[in-house]
Amino acid sequence: MSEANAEPGMNWDLSAFFPEFNGPDMKVFKASLREDVKSLLESAGGLDALCPENAVEWEEIFLRSEETLSRLVHLGSYVGCLTAADAGNEDYMKEEGNLALLSAEFSKLEVELLRSLKQIPDDVFESFCQRESLAGAKHFLSRTRIESKFTMSAELEALRADLGVDGIEAWGRLYDTVSGKLEFDMVYPDGKKERLPISQRRSLMENSDRDTRRAAFLGGNAAWETVEDVAASALNAISGTRLTLNGYRQVPHFLEVALFQSAITKKTLDAMFEAIFSEIELARSILKYKAGAMGIDRISWYDMGAPLPFPDLDPISWEDGKALVQIAFERSYPNLGRFTQSIYDKLWIDWEPRSGKRPGGFCTSSMEIGESRIFMTFNDTMGDVLTLAHEAGHAFHSFTLKEERAYSRLYPMTLAESASTFGEMILADGVIADADTEDVQKAMILDMEVSHGAVYLMDIPVRFKFEEAMYEERSSGELSVSRLKELMAETQREVFGDVLDEGGEDPYFWASKLHFYITGATFYNFPYTFGFLLSRGLFARFKSEGPDFLPRYEEFLRLTGNDTAENVAMRSIGCNLEAPDFWVEAIRSMGQPLTELQELVPRVLPKDGEAVS
Ligand SMILES: [Zn+2]
Repeated sequence: MSEANAEPGMNWDLSAFFPEFNGPDMKVFKASLREDVKSLLESAGGLDALCPENAVEWEEIFLRSEETLSRLVHLGSYVGCLTAADAGNEDYMKEEGNLALLSAEFSKLEVELLRSLKQIPDDVFESFCQRESLAGAKHFLSRTRIESKFTMSAELEALRADLGVDGIEAWGRLYDTVSGKLEFDMVYPDGKKERLPISQRRSLMENSDRDTRRAAFLGGNAAWETVEDVAASALNAISGTRLTLNGYRQVPHFLEVALFQSAITKKTLDAMFEAIFSEIELARSILKYKAGAMGIDRISWYDMGAPLPFPDLDPISWEDGKALVQIAFERSYPNLGRFTQSIYDKLWIDWEPRSGKRPGGFCTSSMEIGESRIFMTFNDTMGDVLTLAHEAGHAFHSFTLKEERAYSRLYPMTLAESASTFGEMILADGVIADADTEDVQKAMILDMEVSHGAVYLMDIPVRFKFEEAMYEERSSGELSVSRLKELMAETQREVFGDVLDEGGEDPYFWASKLHFYITGATFYNFPYTFGFLLSRGLFARFKSEGPDFLPRYEEFLRLTGNDTAENVAMRSIGCNLEAPDFWVEAIRSMGQPLTELQELVPRVLPKDGEAVS
């Protein structure tokens, strides 16, 4: 095997994707991909819905579409890596535009696949799934068939797609434009005044100084007030369009779409929320404890993202950060440790802080070459080390799926974060168990862990409850600005209870949270809580059963694209996601890090302005 070589100006080796950007190999690859999508569309367009007479032709189209999908993902993954690592490069941007056009063409092919299975008899469908070449694709085909039942006629769907550009999607774009231009007046505690883009508000609301957080909160909401009518119109139009389409598509309830996208049943969703609300005192006690440590009785909305005021830590170098992750993995999960060492050796990570890099982190994978790449910016903090463990977990998930066909690698958002959160938990557990770790570092990790828990168990349930109530009300008319504010504040009171200060609600959260305005996915929030709790449940089992659990964990990952979430959990680890017990256990696992944090804090927090040495 040849030595790994980084791309010029970047840390990762992308040569397994293409030897050079827009070199001869890549040009041939793109041309044949375009040609194949075009010819597939032509062939599919000439066929009636699936019947015994045309089953051979449709089989061929499904197989070639699968193979085309894999190549499209390969190209998308490569271009995504380049644009993230060098955001200002116009050649990469242009390529991203070409790719969007090609993806739009491919989505027309997906419409044809839906059409092929719409209203066909069960026996025709079953015998199609029995074809040898489609072994292992039954889950994908069944989902396509269910989706086809809730589509309108081809003409109406085409009209919807065209009108959507100037309708629901235009409302989403309007929100993005208005929020992108929005500025607020930040009045710092020392009296200094500054006009800032609203995008900077979030980090100010995570400042360890409470007056700074409050000023950002108040200044930000004064700015949202100036655009409240635009935001309310967008929210009413987006939800109204969805409800109307649901009616035409004969979708029985607005939550059905989200349940289908998440590959879960209503019973599972209800079980999770039942557990969250029966155990809500644990989540509230996290915030009560943090309030006490900050010297206040109750929190306001702007205190939720506040860290405890720990003294500054020494920076962690990239080499040390890598070693922390690898050693923690190796110790408790040797397969994951070996895998992680191999991705370091093969240069799969772009980590260096450089100007022109996009913010955030991701892991992207190509089914064509069975490899992943990790994008992140390592700024020498413990949070960045956790990000590395998170993204390495995603890469390991893809690695377990390597032998699966493309159609059984398409896992839902609810199962997407299991491996990454599992990786984070192994790292946190390892660092905390290590005798060499300083107390303050341990406390910081525990604070991050319990604070994440509070977001997943309180903030996200607020978003879900609000959205659910809003859709109920929207079905009989538009909601006014004052009703939206009232509903949001009421929901916050209900979930947070007495831990939230009187008047500490955020009545404009429906306007400032962009997740409500994502037009491509409905109820975008709860899958995060689902994934967080599911991986905590998995980790709790690993802790109690030890290494014997790991083969079943890998089976869980391998099945994620092959079945519903309930069946994946039942088939691999024997858990019943439709019963609240599983979720209760996962939530109660938050108790231990909270107790540990409470024990550590008196030893590490500066008291009365004096740092503890
Ligand atoms: Zn992730």
